[in-house]
Amino acid sequence: MALNGMEIYKILPKKNCKECGFPTCLAFAMKLAQGGTQAEKCPYMSDEAKDKLAEATAPPMRTVTFGAGEKTYSLGGETVLFRHEKTFVNKPRFAVIFDDTESTDNVEKKINHINTVNYTRISEEMYVEIAAFRCSSQDKQKFISLIKKVTSECKKIVPMIITENPDIASAAAEEFAALGPIIYGANEQNYEAMVGIAKKHNLLLGVKAENQAKLYDLVQKIQNTDYKELLLDAGGRSLKTAFDNAVNIRRTALLSKDRTFGYPTAAFVCDMTQDKMMEIAMATLFIEKYASVIVLSDMDYSMALPLFAIRQNIYTDPQRPMRIEQGIYRIGQADEQSPLLVTVDFALTYFIVSGEVERSKVPSWILIPDAGGYSVLTAWASGKLNAKSIAKAIKDFEAESKLKTRELIIPGKVAVLKSDIEDELPGWKVIVGPREASSLTAFLKEYRQE
Ligand code: SF4
Repeated sequence: MALNGMEIYKILPKKNCKECGFPTCLAFAMKLAQGGTQAEKCPYMSDEAKDKLAEATAPPMRTVTFGAGEKTYSLGGETVLFRHEKTFVNKPRFAVIFDDTESTDNVEKKINHINTVNYTRISEEMYVEIAAFRCSSQDKQKFISLIKKVTSECKKIVPMIITENPDIASAAAEEFAALGPIIYGANEQNYEAMVGIAKKHNLLLGVKAENQAKLYDLVQKIQNTDYKELLLDAGGRSLKTAFDNAVNIRRTALLSKDRTFGYPTAAFVCDMTQDKMMEIAMATLFIEKYASVIVLSDMDYSMALPLFAIRQNIYTDPQRPMRIEQGIYRIGQADEQSPLLVTVDFALTYFIVSGEVERSKVPSWILIPDAGGYSVLTAWASGKLNAKSIAKAIKDFEAESKLKTRELIIPGKVAVLKSDIEDELPGWKVIVGPREASSLTAFLKEYRQE
């Protein structure tokens, strides 16, 4: 539990020497409780007091990691219940479940889907991060063979080893330790052995109980072994129970500042429904509230597009607009005779415009000036999108060396900029495009014929 100012004051040296930059030890304690200073600023604190304070002033929800090298991922570390309060920091990761008793065809199909789903949206590469392996056969060799096959064919995934058998968990952890797997399956009966395995390889440990109360007791026992790299599962396998678990665990950690539940959680959506559309709907719920690992039955493009998009939308800082890098973008086989359009660096606007240009099948260039990350009208109204910024982008990104034409298509909503741009860019003709991106396809086809 976090300490308040008076509790911190009790363990301070009480010299009132001011060396920490505060007039009294009490003032220092109050500031420390608010997170406004660091314990190290007091040079007279004992090591024991420092440890106590480090624990007490740590964030209410622990940040844990799994994976290895470039494929190292963080989970948890959240400080707010709602994105608009500040921001969420560590996005949930998607896992595809593999059961060691399922058919080879199914395994191949999932491997193919994992390897196919890989695309970039707003500068973020989208792909499946985890393959979750469930050992239903209790056959160690069969289980390890399955993990070997999938991890060798899906290079980007990190394995999540699901078994409550410490012997199998130990063998699999030993075999795949270099990949930084999640070991999942610590329970009331086996937790000492499972903690030993996780400790030995420094792995994230999945802890499962039948309900929240039993999970709470189990986590306390595991914390007493001094292992805190945990992923929690309160056992819910219906939407109602699993959602209730996720929300209560997060609220207990952040509102009650109770670190027993200050860990990320997993949601096994794959066990909650057989219906694909329902699975997508449920997964979106757990992206928002509050699973950190979301285990799915599969991940083909029809699942990936909505799930990755909503994850990206939720796990961006609401105080910072989603921006695309400024530059000149080539759509299709655009050449020196292709049309040049200008739009803003607000990512959603860019993707709508570029999508419509692609749909038109008219190879084109899109110029992105510095527009503050705003939409067209907002950027214009705030003075970020103007004749000077567009002319600067034409020069900075060397449009004149890429194109022989000297025509620039501007959004219809900022038609008012036409003459100013022509003044800034002698020799250029500005053409006013449509007001809405949805009209771009017809506009470009007509433009090409002229
Ligand atoms: Fe108190 Fe330590 Fe600050 Fe001195 S440096 S006033 S002992 S808290």
